[in-house]
Amino acid sequence: QVAGNFNLSQAVETTLRFFSHAIKDGVEVKLDLPQYVEAVGDQNQFIQVLINLIQNSMDAMSEKTYPEGQERCLSIWATQNGTMAALHIRDNGPGIPEENRNNIFDPFFTTKDVGAGMGLGLSICHQIMAEHGGRILLESVLGEFCEFVLEFPVTAPIL
Ligand code: ADP
Ligand code: MG
Repeated sequence: QVAGNFNLSQAVETTLRFFSHAIKDGVEVKLDLPQYVEAVGDQNQFIQVLINLIQNSMDAMSEKTYPEGQERCLSIWATQNGTMAALHIRDNGPGIPEENRNNIFDPFFTTKDVGAGMGLGLSICHQIMAEHGGRILLESVLGEFCEFVLEFPVTAPIL
């Protein structure tokens, strides 16, 4: 278990500020977060999770060709379920095929070219969320979107 508290919304904003070079041209970032969400855990480890997910979204959206007028989007928003809060990170890239869904959190599972990915990002996310008493879930509709949901305990209701 990890000690300490941090503001989840602040962590998202810090990540986007310091990782802005990774946001590809033409990607619209849509944020819908409460001002203050006190989460239990280590902010920098949580930022590592966000970086891994955002990098994957950028990779995914560069693999897909978009029809005229459809934008590339990275959306991040929060929801609440009892004493758990969830942060949703969604891109409208190609999504994840059914046959890969059981493997994506395994170390060294990658569909990327040699040198483009080591397949460690999501396994690290999984481990960090578990150490925070939370979990990471996948929701994806092939061809439409890929969404990761980060669930973790919060100290007070957020919404
Ligand atoms: P890597 O990025 O090095 O391949 P990850 O553990 O970060 O390793 O991701 C594992 C695999 O999960 C990726 O290779 C890709 O097939 C799939 N994946 C992860 N995120 C996304 C996403 N946002 N959209 C589509 N596929 C994804
Ligand atoms: Mg990755």
